[in-house]
Amino acid sequence: MNRVHNFSAGPAVLPAEVLKKAQAELTEYQNKGRSIMEMSHRSAEYEAIDQQAKDRLTELLGLGDDFEIMFLQGGASSQFMMAPYNFLSEGQTADYIDTGRWSNKAIKEAKIFGNVHRPYSSSETGYDRVPTDDELNFSDNPQYVHFTSNNTVAGTQFATEPETNGVPLVCDASSDFLSKPIDVSKYGIIYAGAQKNVGPAGVTIVIIRKDFLAKADTTDVPTILQYQTHTEKIFNTPPVFNVYMVNLVLEWVQEKGGLDYFKKFNEEKGALVYDEIDKDDFYRGAVEKDSRSLMNATFRLPSEELEAQFVAEAEKQDLFTLKGHRSVGGIRASMYNACPRESVETLVNFMQDFRAENG
Ligand code: PMP
Repeated sequence: MNRVHNFSAGPAVLPAEVLKKAQAELTEYQNKGRSIMEMSHRSAEYEAIDQQAKDRLTELLGLGDDFEIMFLQGGASSQFMMAPYNFLSEGQTADYIDTGRWSNKAIKEAKIFGNVHRPYSSSETGYDRVPTDDELNFSDNPQYVHFTSNNTVAGTQFATEPETNGVPLVCDASSDFLSKPIDVSKYGIIYAGAQKNVGPAGVTIVIIRKDFLAKADTTDVPTILQYQTHTEKIFNTPPVFNVYMVNLVLEWVQEKGGLDYFKKFNEEKGALVYDEIDKDDFYRGAVEKDSRSLMNATFRLPSEELEAQFVAEAEKQDLFTLKGHRSVGGIRASMYNACPRESVETLVNFMQDFRAENG
């Protein structure tokens, strides 16, 4: 295999071991004479995959019996709509912490269903930080508090869950899902598009606390958009190959040592890049230090010309997709679970050489 160092923000690098296993099983799954893509989603083989993936998530996150897990379609963007559709009605209020592009898109959808209160927004400073608990001004009686645990575009991340004094969190965890342990007891819903930390694009993982689900008001919600519909059995044809891939990635996460392992691994990779940024003024972190993301490191160079040159020269050394999001510019190195340490070390070496030549 001749794989590049892939810093894509998503769809992102997958573990090479997982891709190899999928390749070996691609035309024939478990000696059944056909691939998993060519079997019924009601087959024993697929149902076993669906169950195994759910069991693995339960084990990795410590979910116990309190949660329902579902593999849906429509991306995290559909969850921006589905969560308020089920849990926010006219006259009610939900609190949405506004920390960037994706929070904003979630807010836009929620407003269709009810009132949205922003307990905090960093929009005026270009989304350069996430709040501390004492900066959060909640409304009196919110249905839930929504937050984006990692802000893929700006490059900020909540180090821990915001303190809501018991109000359930609804979390868009798309870009840091399974990158570290979390306190699941604080969450009503955790949702994540798979394409960054857990698998290929096309499946969205949704985890809902059962006692929160019981509070859903689904009077006017179409069947497929009710969470309850997806809890009893597989409702309609799921993206079977994607769930199969997710299951392989989850197996890999378990074999590596679970979420404690990845917390440490991701902290180490992040430190390599951020230490390099902080060495002098050539590289400049794009966000406040306390809010830095271990998943998406964003930084600037002295000029946009140098940034373009950085991206172009990096590619010549097999360092791919380092250009910042089109809405903010700069450089963004995305380093999800499957990004090997060697890729980050190669990037840091390149940063040193580039500074030496252009600083
Ligand atoms: N939330 C976050 C934090 C994201 O990074 C993204 C995609 N980059 C989305 C939501 C949107 O996800 P999707 O394209 O799966 O709808």
